[in-house]
Parts: sequence; C-alpha cells; structure tokens
Amino acid sequence: MKGAAVFPGSRRLGLAGNVPEPQMEGPQDVKLRMLQVGVCATDREIASFVFGTPPEGFDYLVLGHEGFAEVVETGPEVRDLKPGDLVVPTVRRPCADPACVACRHNRPDFCITGLYREHGIVSMHGFMTEFVTGDARYMRPVPPEVREVGVLVEPLTIAEKAFIQAERIQTRLPWGKAAARAVVAGAGPVGLLGAMSLRVRGYDVTVYSREPETDVRADIARAIGARYVSAQGNTPEQMAAGIGNIDLIYEATGSAHLAFGMLNVLGSNGLLILTGVPGAHGPESLDMGTLITKMTLKNQCLLATVNAGDDAFDQAIVHLTAFCKRWPDAVRSLITGRFTLEQFEMPIRNAAGIKNIIEMAS
Ligand SMILES: [Zn+2]
Ligand SMILES: [Zn+2]
Repeated sequence: MKGAAVFPGSRRLGLAGNVPEPQMEGPQDVKLRMLQVGVCATDREIASFVFGTPPEGFDYLVLGHEGFAEVVETGPEVRDLKPGDLVVPTVRRPCADPACVACRHNRPDFCITGLYREHGIVSMHGFMTEFVTGDARYMRPVPPEVREVGVLVEPLTIAEKAFIQAERIQTRLPWGKAAARAVVAGAGPVGLLGAMSLRVRGYDVTVYSREPETDVRADIARAIGARYVSAQGNTPEQMAAGIGNIDLIYEATGSAHLAFGMLNVLGSNGLLILTGVPGAHGPESLDMGTLITKMTLKNQCLLATVNAGDDAFDQAIVHLTAFCKRWPDAVRSLITGRFTLEQFEMPIRNAAGIKNIIEMAS
C-alpha cells in the first residue's frame, strides 16, 4: 500500500509504494481505513530532517499523527468497536521501562524516560497511508456528526490536556470558578481550537495574533464570541488594556519571545500555558529578577504541556461535537486545504491557510 514517507538517510520526501499492509496481531486489535490526516508544523520539521525516527528495519518513516479513520475489522476480543465505527487513534505508545510510573499508568504523555514511540514521529509509521492496525484501547470513538472535521480532534487534544490540568491547578483558588478571562496567543489551528474550547468552558476570550483584523482567523474568533486583537499595531499591554485581570493565557505561537512577553500582562493568580516548541534560536535577554518577582507577588503559574492522554482525547471529541452544533461554519472553515495522498508534499512544503489535510478516501 501507499504511504507518505520521509527517507532520512537520503534526505528526501516521497510516496512509498510498497508499505507492507499491517496485520492484525492480537485479539484486541482493530484494523482502520484512514479517512483524513492533518498536516502540522511537526510534519514539516520531520520533513526537514530536524527529527523523526523510522521504525526498526525501515529506511523511511510514514508521516502523519493527526489521524481520523473508520474501523474495517475487529479482533475476537474487541467489545466496544465494530466495523463502520469512526475513531481517532492516539499518537504516543508507552515506553517499556518498568520504572516509568507514567507509562505503567497508561499515561505515556507524561513519560519520564523519553523512550516512548509515536505514530508518524518516533519509531512507528504514521497515519498518512491506507490502513493502520493497533490495540482497540488506543482508538477513541468519534460520533458520526463530526465526520467532516474528525481530523481536528488530535490538534484539539493539546488544548484539552492543558485545560484539564489548568482547572485542577486553579482549584487552589478557594472561591471556585469565577467569570474567568483568557487570552489565546496565536490564531493557528491549535490556538483557534483552544479558543473554542475556552468559550465552551465559559471563558471570556481574546485572541491575539499577528494577522490583521480583516483576516479570516479574526472572523472565526469573532464568530465564536471571542474578541480579536491584531499584534500588528497592538503591544500585549495595549491588547490587555480593558480586559481586566487575565486569569489564563494559552500560548500557541511557538515564539519564545512572545511567550515570555505575555507574562507581562498575566493577571494575579493567573496561569500561563505553553504549548509551542520553538527550538533553539540563540540567547535572548530577559530580566529574570523582575519576572520572578512579579510571578511570585502575583501567585502565577507556568504550565508547559505536550501530547495528550485518553481523557484529553475523549474530552476533545465531546467538545468538537459541541463546537459543530454551536458554530458549524467556523469549525468547517478551519480546514482550508484538502489534498490527496499523492499530493502530500504540497501542504508540507507550503504552510498556507489554517489547517491542511490529506484525504485518503471519500
Ligand atoms: Zn500535529
Ligand atoms: Zn515511559
């Protein structure tokens, strides 16, 4: 079968025509026919050979970790899934270290050894192919109402994992959930999906991003009842003026400079959530004394988060279903480019639009 592959040895990208069709191995396994796979900056970095590890015995890695699929076959011991069901496969698989408390609790998203495997990233083929098999417990069921946009579940899990933790952290405030104010920095898919999740959770939301206020991203923010402020011509301080105490900032730009700059506008008892992976861009100056003083005097928290557990996947599926009911047009307009498997290099080489996806089958 065909697969969108990166060949790190020869530093090239191409469609592999002879990817072995995966076999059902255990009685709990299911076989999936891939429907849609999202493309994101992680795929672009793998395609630029920054990271990405082929599975053992292969000189290539099939790309794709934002999957959406239909079950076509189930093993004899699978109870909760049947052929025709829609699922999103989770991305990360536990490490083998008996001492890794996170993986032994089925939370490889918190793995402490770093020896986990990830579909389409580390030591496992990804989802930009025709069929995938795996244990049914890694396949999260998706209702048919979200079939058109099921590919958005995985990028939404980043926000869901962050907000599940944020709500637990903020139980430190004894007065419970007040009308909280949030700022989302960055209006890419992770930012806009995060903004939708915060709206559903009852937050007053401001989206702050570099695009002008006439951009489609600003229209999407306004359509979900959020405010949009362009970073062109507005400093973080100007953006924050008039919002009141900012309780939560969800940083989804991948810019280290902007992320720490947002600390200047974070309110008392506030939480700054980091989701970007900017990599090393050389030293930048930061007045750490002022920063730590302000964070301490304002009881602030810094939370960085990666990957997601089953709880975040299931929450993402519930919330995406809610978004589709509340703002069907806004959710649909997040997907700006659709490509066939044969065309997979186009959205990898050109990051135009909001979310580009590969459609494997209709
Ligand atoms: Zn991604
Ligand atoms: Zn582990």
